[in-house]
Amino acid sequence: MEDHHRDNLSVPENINPATWDKVLRSVASPDERTPYLIIDRDVIRDKVSQIGSGISNSRVFYAVKANPDISVVSFLNELGVDFEIASEGELAILSSLGVKGERIITSNPVKSLKFLNEAVSYGVSRYAFDSLQEVEKLSLHAPGSIVYVRLNVPNEGSEWPLSKKYGVEIDDALHLLERAGDAGLRPEGLTFHVGSQCHNVYNWDMALDKSVQLWDAAREKGIELKFVNIGGGYPIKYTKDVMDISDIEAQIDRSVQTRFGSDIEVHIEPGRSVVGDSGILVASVIGKAVRGDENWLYLDVGVFNGLMESLGGIKYSYFCDGRGEHKSWTIAGPSCDSFDVMDRDVELPEPHVGDTMLILSCGAYTVSYASEFNGFSIPRTIML
Ligand SMILES: *Cc1c(COP(=O)(O)O)cnc(C)c1O
Repeated sequence: MEDHHRDNLSVPENINPATWDKVLRSVASPDERTPYLIIDRDVIRDKVSQIGSGISNSRVFYAVKANPDISVVSFLNELGVDFEIASEGELAILSSLGVKGERIITSNPVKSLKFLNEAVSYGVSRYAFDSLQEVEKLSLHAPGSIVYVRLNVPNEGSEWPLSKKYGVEIDDALHLLERAGDAGLRPEGLTFHVGSQCHNVYNWDMALDKSVQLWDAAREKGIELKFVNIGGGYPIKYTKDVMDISDIEAQIDRSVQTRFGSDIEVHIEPGRSVVGDSGILVASVIGKAVRGDENWLYLDVGVFNGLMESLGGIKYSYFCDGRGEHKSWTIAGPSCDSFDVMDRDVELPEPHVGDTMLILSCGAYTVSYASEFNGFSIPRTIML
């Protein structure tokens, strides 16, 4: 996008004007080759100050998988956020920054031995589980650790469901907590995930209903739990409006207070909501075609090198120079694979080949999923 095009681009409604300004300045610089991901640190700072502020006695652990870029994780560390990890790779990132083990939890209910051993020697002491096999593994390799059981909860209304693979029902969860205690572990909590990009505020209510049933049943067995980890799931705006985090948290806080009283500690593990809005992917149009009655637009970033969540139904907002005739487009990535199609029926002014395409809300689950399939490069991250 050359400098004289800039005036034609109006500020998209779901982006903060200061971010837009940063993006336009970077796009105008001839040194930057696409694709790249701009992360606006001011947006992350705002999110961090908001998330958790509506829930009493809460502590925020950023789910590193959403965006493990070292500049992002380092900035979150400076802001004092704690971390949730699942692998030795994520542990290595935190260890390179000197993050203490007591600020790290791991909520993946099935951990590899390599990871578990490294985490234990690093000083990580809190682990999720949801099977007897994991109780055995933890009691052998992480003796005396604090453990929390993963409950299965409804994921309806989430765009990226996370149930089925993990989580157990209340009776099994109770049994597992008891067995963990018998095995010398410290059963102190429970966790759930309502599904990522969750649009249904009642999911948290239903999950907390199940949680308090387990909590009370555990108490009857002499197990005093201390915390509920409510996972992630806070949504961000892609193309559709979403609930405000402050409204979601007000509702969760009410639910927690009425069900558990005020002694309980609430852990929150947001990923998408911390970094999603902060990222703008800068891509180029590499080709156009008319196939049947469809107008196709090909970009240098696609499903395999950044926009994987398109396959699961996430609809990104695309922006290009506003001069051309408006048309309805099928938007595809650069690879030879026919899965590499992000969206259909997207209204956009017709760009030229070589024009810049901006894709909003790309800070989470983009680069962290990306591969160099077919030789197309993974967008580099630039934090501004
Ligand atoms: C992925 C994940 C998260 C983050 O979820 P978001 O929907 O991105 O906020 C939190 N906790 C666990 C256990 C996860 O697997």
